[in-house]
Amino acid sequence: MWKSMKIASLLFTITMAIGTCAYGQAAPAAAAVAVKQTTLRVQPAITYPGDVLFVRSNQATAVTLFGNTYNMRATNGEYVRFIPIPIGTKAGDYTLQSADKKMKATLTIAAKSFATDSITVSKQMASMQQNTARINAEQVKINKARSVSAATPYFTSAFQMPVQGTLTTPYGYQRIVNGKPSSRHLAIDIANKEGTPVYASNAGKVVLAESLYLTGNTVMIDHGLSLFSSYGHMSKLDVKAGQLVKKGQLIGRVGTTGFSTGPHLHYAMLIGNTFINPNPFFTASPYQWK
Ligand SMILES: [Zn+2]
Repeated sequence: MWKSMKIASLLFTITMAIGTCAYGQAAPAAAAVAVKQTTLRVQPAITYPGDVLFVRSNQATAVTLFGNTYNMRATNGEYVRFIPIPIGTKAGDYTLQSADKKMKATLTIAAKSFATDSITVSKQMASMQQNTARINAEQVKINKARSVSAATPYFTSAFQMPVQGTLTTPYGYQRIVNGKPSSRHLAIDIANKEGTPVYASNAGKVVLAESLYLTGNTVMIDHGLSLFSSYGHMSKLDVKAGQLVKKGQLIGRVGTTGFSTGPHLHYAMLIGNTFINPNPFFTASPYQWK
């Protein structure tokens, strides 16, 4: 009897000690020895060919997807990376893995079809596309402008439409120029009259502001994490390379310079030199993508 009472008393003491531990002085020590949970997330969970994924982790410094390895960037206390989804990717479920194979995340790429868009241009304009030497030389300069990007994002919110107007060509359309299949239209065209103000779609640093052969008067902005926006065919430029811009700041005016059939803004978004669908950026910041 005495013995069992002593055991009961001892048990009570232990229980008390555990109970106290959760709220008392010992709690911080218990938290310190707990293993930090590893996270690997991909946003949004469902996406489409030609779009972009935003990968986030508290541990993974590199991830693998589509048979490629992507180094993550340390920023704001986590590792992040934009991964473009090639436009020809087959619909289905894919597994993203940390390079050390310790973490996994599933993503769904849903099917999407892209319409064709026929345009007719003058012989003189059509011949512009034949000048591959000039186009290639300029591409080197363009790629160089997008080779460096801030490690910390300039953006803290959703992107805004850079101009008011009518959407004339959506993203991803297959272009037919004078009856011949041309390149895919990896941008959105917004038509409005010449001189309509064009605004920076988000905060960033201007990395290029000059007249280019195909896209005419062009501005390119680095938003950080290798995310860039590009504004083409403008009649006038209101910023210079190297300048920091705020979201909604005037950067130029609608025009029809370069390979263009009428006044409109050719607005593109890229990860490095890969074009991506701009539309998800207008709904929410990538950090908020579900
Ligand atoms: Zn365009």
